[in-house]
Amino acid sequence: MDLIKLSLSVTNCYLFRNGKGWVLVDTGYEEDWQLFRRRLAFVGLQIAQISHLILTHHHDDHVGFVGELVAENPAIAAAMSESTRELLLVGKNDQSYGGGLINRRVESLIGLKQLYVSLRTGKHQRKENNLHFRPYTARRDDIVFSGEPRLHDLGIELEGRILATPGHTVDSVSILFDDGDCMVGDAAANMLRLAGTHNCVIFVTDLEQYYASWRKLIAAGAKRILPAHGRSFPVERLAHNVGRNRPENMRRIVAASALTHSTTSGEVTGVDIVNSQEASK
Ligand SMILES: [Zn+2]
Repeated sequence: MDLIKLSLSVTNCYLFRNGKGWVLVDTGYEEDWQLFRRRLAFVGLQIAQISHLILTHHHDDHVGFVGELVAENPAIAAAMSESTRELLLVGKNDQSYGGGLINRRVESLIGLKQLYVSLRTGKHQRKENNLHFRPYTARRDDIVFSGEPRLHDLGIELEGRILATPGHTVDSVSILFDDGDCMVGDAAANMLRLAGTHNCVIFVTDLEQYYASWRKLIAAGAKRILPAHGRSFPVERLAHNVGRNRPENMRRIVAASALTHSTTSGEVTGVDIVNSQEASK
C-alpha cells in the first residue's frame, strides 16, 4: 500500500492510495493549511488527487482546515462517524464528558502549545482559537457512518475497516488495514515521552476506556500503530504501557459531565483543571 505521512505543526496526516485517488486521514489546525499545501506539493501530490477524507475525531488539531480543503476540491467525500458529524457542528473540542490532562508534567507544558504551533506554521495562533475550530456541516455527498464499516462500504477500494476506539474522545475511531497497519488518530500517541505519557495523548476523556481501546486494537490484529502525534511504533508498546498512566495523576476538568448532563442550562461556563483528589471531593 502506498502510504505517505505529512507532518504538520503538531499533527500527522496520512495519505494512502486507493483505486480512485488518495485518501487523506485527518487535517491539522486551521493555521496548518498553508503548511499542508507545501507538504503536499513536496511529495508531488495535488488537492485534486484527493478522493476522500476520513476524520478520526472532531478535535481542532484534526479538523482545522476541512472547510478550506473541500472548498478547494468539493469532490472530496469526507467520511466521519455520526458522533463526529454532530460534534463538528459545535465548533469546539467537546469537554462535556469530563476527562483531563494525563499528568502534572503535561499540564505545565501545555502553555507552550500555542507558541510552538505559531513557530511551526509561521501563523500566529490566537488565544481565543484555543480548542476551537470553524464548525463544519456535513454535505450531501459526505459519508456519515455508524458502527464499524469496512473501507469498501465507504467507497474506498482497500482492505481494511473502521474500529471505534473511544477514550480520548467519545467519537474517536481508528482505521485498521488487514495487513496490520493502523491509523489511530489520538487513540494512542508517541510524543512527550519525557513527560511520562507512555503512548497516551495529553488529554483523555476516560482513561479506562482508552486502555480498553488499546486492548481492542491488539485483539483486532493491529501491528504497526500510526498515530497523529509522533512516530509510528509496534503495537507491543501498547500492551507494555496499558495501565502505566494512572487515573489519580490526571489533572481533571471539574465535573464538566455533571454540569452538562444534569443541569437544564447544558452549558459549561468555565473549565478548571484540578487534580483528581480535589475533583472527587
Ligand atoms: Zn484529539
